Amino acid sequence: MNEKKEEKTVEETEEEVEEEEKFEKYRKAGQIAVKVRKQLEQLVRVGTPVIEICNRVESLIKELGGSPAFPCNVSINNIAAHYTSPPNDETVLEDNSIVKVDFGVHVDGFIADTAITFDLNSGFEKLKEAAEEALRIAIENIKPGVKTNDIGKLIHEKIREYGYTPIRDLSGHLLDEYSLHGAKIIPNITLPHGEPIEVGEVYAVETFASTGSGTVHEKPYAYIYRILPVRIPVRFSSSRKLLKLASERFKGLPFAERWLVKDIPAIRLAIKELTTKGILYEYRVLADEKESMVAQAEHTVIVTEDGCEIITMDKGEEL
Ligand code: MN
Ligand code: MN
Repeated sequence: MNEKKEEKTVEETEEEVEEEEKFEKYRKAGQIAVKVRKQLEQLVRVGTPVIEICNRVESLIKELGGSPAFPCNVSINNIAAHYTSPPNDETVLEDNSIVKVDFGVHVDGFIADTAITFDLNSGFEKLKEAAEEALRIAIENIKPGVKTNDIGKLIHEKIREYGYTPIRDLSGHLLDEYSLHGAKIIPNITLPHGEPIEVGEVYAVETFASTGSGTVHEKPYAYIYRILPVRIPVRFSSSRKLLKLASERFKGLPFAERWLVKDIPAIRLAIKELTTKGILYEYRVLADEKESMVAQAEHTVIVTEDGCEIITMDKGEEL
């Protein structure tokens, strides 16, 4: 019998090493996220100013050797996503509220994205549980070959079992180097079509349970932006300065107005020009209907041969 031993070429070996280095960076980002998650317990209390949470989370990420992959989001009650403190924010956490803290860490562009819901005597502790249980069942079922819409169906059913509504226009997403939202999504609802999940992919899996309509609308304000790959002339020097600083520092990842306000005195003017010209993408604050409550849970996973590895959780910690 002619047995041919498979030998790896130099290129294949180099590629494997590169892949492994990439996953090590994801894991490092994940470990930083785990530490920040633990600190949140003490920080998210009635009376804490929201800006203190945002600043603390972002500086902790840096102290631990990472960089914020996007501004820390603190979304209260019916706000589902994209709220970060504007400069001089005076918002304080109030009793009887539900607070989602969503943050991202990156190490050389490799991102760990995670979120926790805090129930400040909202009277909706089951809502938080619904989002968390939906996340658990989603993660338990992620493996190569399973389709993204099958995971969406599991999330949908779990949240409905609790008597709540999943938010249809927010989803889990593929992560990539300096890219927060890749081509594939993991929906929160049952959809007719999906794509197979593949080994080596990295997903931020996130679930949203709502007491409201399950759809979000855009508020008329934004505090988070991202530079789009558009090159057209700008009029104001502050706009040029913003473009230069933001592209150097954030490399296409989202950033907060709060992060640049000291360096760019006329920042509002710059933002106005750049968003009008389509050079800056603005992440409008997203909310479900008035008086509704929204809970979120999120972890980042690496898809393995037979399941997935949760990088934003300590080994041994229970989902
Ligand atoms: Mn997130
Ligand atoms: Mn996410």
